[in-house]
Amino acid sequence: MAMRKVGLYWFSNDLRLHDNANLLNAALEVDNLLCIYCLDPNELMTNHYGLMGMSHNRRRFLKESLLDLDRQLQKMGQHLLICYQSPVKAISDLASLHKLSFIYRSRQTGYYENQQRVTIQKKLPLVQFVETDTHTLFALDQLPFPLDKFPNTFTQFKNSVAQLSVVKPQLTVEFLPPSPALRSDWISRFPDYSKSEHEIVFHGGETAGLKQLTNYFASGSASHYKEQRNELDGWGNSSKFSPWLANGNLSIRQICFKLNNYEQQTGANESTYWLFFELLWREYFQWYANHHGKRLFAFQGIKQQKPLTSFYPERFRKWCSGNIPYPLVNACMKQLNATGFMSNRGRQIVASCLVNELAVDWRHGAAYFEHQLLDYDVASNWGNWQYLAGVGADPRGKRHFDIEKQTRQYDPDALFINKWQGYIQNLPLDSVDAADWPVVTE
Ligand SMILES: Cc1cc2nc3c(=O)[nH]c(=O)nc-3n(C[C@H](O)[C@H](O)[C@H](O)COP(=O)(O)OP(=O)(O)OC[C@H]3O[C@@H](n4cnc5c(N)ncnc54)[C@H](O)[C@@H]3O)c2cc1C
Repeated sequence: MAMRKVGLYWFSNDLRLHDNANLLNAALEVDNLLCIYCLDPNELMTNHYGLMGMSHNRRRFLKESLLDLDRQLQKMGQHLLICYQSPVKAISDLASLHKLSFIYRSRQTGYYENQQRVTIQKKLPLVQFVETDTHTLFALDQLPFPLDKFPNTFTQFKNSVAQLSVVKPQLTVEFLPPSPALRSDWISRFPDYSKSEHEIVFHGGETAGLKQLTNYFASGSASHYKEQRNELDGWGNSSKFSPWLANGNLSIRQICFKLNNYEQQTGANESTYWLFFELLWREYFQWYANHHGKRLFAFQGIKQQKPLTSFYPERFRKWCSGNIPYPLVNACMKQLNATGFMSNRGRQIVASCLVNELAVDWRHGAAYFEHQLLDYDVASNWGNWQYLAGVGADPRGKRHFDIEKQTRQYDPDALFINKWQGYIQNLPLDSVDAADWPVVTE
């Protein structure tokens, strides 16, 4: 009798059934399939930046995404198994218990995520590891350059991929082989989140993500994207796809496909082009991260010289909570803390302020964004921070935003500042001479 083939689908930043080529592969290849998601307890503990893993907003969004996925899997007689362990431990245990032949996972761009794969492959040399590009517009083998010849600048990257065609989105998975394991009562153990006092506008999950995709294009906002994308606030001023994209609730190719349809029906203009242009920025950072590996997290980034910044705990704490002498920055940070979201313009301004006005090591800012952002994506976050801090791929060097000028331009009547209580008592930035604070190094 032929051996039954057992596969394991390791969900990560691909929490969806639509346009998921990897899951389709699994459905066709194996007789039994385990669907798992790993929540590593280490990720919820304090990291070496002194921050606790995910904020309650991020946890809520993730929990909603997992619940939505599980509901959809159940319709196919499947279910999602949550492992409260590191992926290496969880998958090694499951492999010996179920005699796995295949492990499926979306290709990752982050260094540490890729290291997990390397370790698992070493431990389980007989298991075939199947990786598919589901998080990017293009597949690795489509790129017109080898990764070790990654273009130096975004413009070079954009020009070199201009002729590539985006792979058509795959059909939604409608059938899956049964699971070899019993369902467990996983959800009750998921770390809880406290209720937010603010209206929650982002709900996690593929269902909510697809709804936003439809609504955004139905609203016609895409035709005005270029003029509005820099606003500090306002739902329709940018697509708001990022939280769903980061968790893989939405597929980047599905977005691109919808955008093309929209252009055919409504007409292409500078705005619709610009939206595509931003998706290319995302694409750029994905492959940038893949290429640069650990350097994505290094103080000097991909440059030879370290920046002239340091770590000032008090300044950093005040920046995080929105208590510095820059009302616009305070308002943006308070919005982030309350909602888990901040506009692109806001992110540029607060990052520039941390690095330039406060002279704080950029990595602490990146780590704080990682903790708070619903759309946290390892490549987009650390890549953008490097870019702003002048240690990334920006040919123009460091970006220094003039906060007063930005305030006059984007919040002339202080509506945004007042909404988020950006004005604070005029306290000095440092309560003691900053030079007295100990410098914390890794
Ligand atoms: C310091 C800093 C940190 C950032 N961290 C993240 C992050 O962790 N995750 C994240 O998704 N984006 C990050 N961004 C990029 C950008 O701010 C957000 O993608 C955008 O604000 C999300 O809102 P939106 O979906 O309405 O974007 P839109 O303006 O509607 O753009 C559409 C999509 O294009 C992509 N995009 C737009 N701008 C960028 C950009 N500069 N870099 C990469 N992709 C882009 C996003 O996927 C976005 O959803 C960061 C930017 C800065 C300056």
